Amino acid sequence: MLDAGKKVAHCLCGKVKIAAVKINPKFTVCHCDTCRTWGGGPLFAVQCGTEVKFEGADSIKEYQSSPWATRGFCQHCGTHLFYRLNKTGSYNMPVGLFPDLPNLTMTMQYFSDQRPDYYCFSDQTQEMTNAEIEAYFASLS
Ligand SMILES: [Zn+2]
Ligand SMILES: [Zn+2]
Repeated sequence: MLDAGKKVAHCLCGKVKIAAVKINPKFTVCHCDTCRTWGGGPLFAVQCGTEVKFEGADSIKEYQSSPWATRGFCQHCGTHLFYRLNKTGSYNMPVGLFPDLPNLTMTMQYFSDQRPDYYCFSDQTQEMTNAEIEAYFASLS
């Protein structure tokens, strides 16, 4: 059983349960084409690191959406569960999965140059364009 004291979430049908030990309340928004195709809109995600436990993991389907990341979803109800970086194994999870995270703050918008012109947010955040993100990852390797 998952420890109820941890930050827990579950998919719509309840077959997958998630417990994350650490969640950064400074969440990010991704406007990239892949995220918007996946979810129909920008992806709001919290960084959860690698200390994430799953119950019902056999119900999770994974899809490698790019050379650097894999996305997971419940194969029964379709709930989007995570975006995992292949290199580090760290998880980014949709903010809305977690019912009552304290101190949530929008701090970063990724792929701001791919943001379509039919929505905008009034929150003032940092932004990174496609070119800035590529340069950042190139500097890490
Ligand atoms: Zn489900
Ligand atoms: Zn994205």
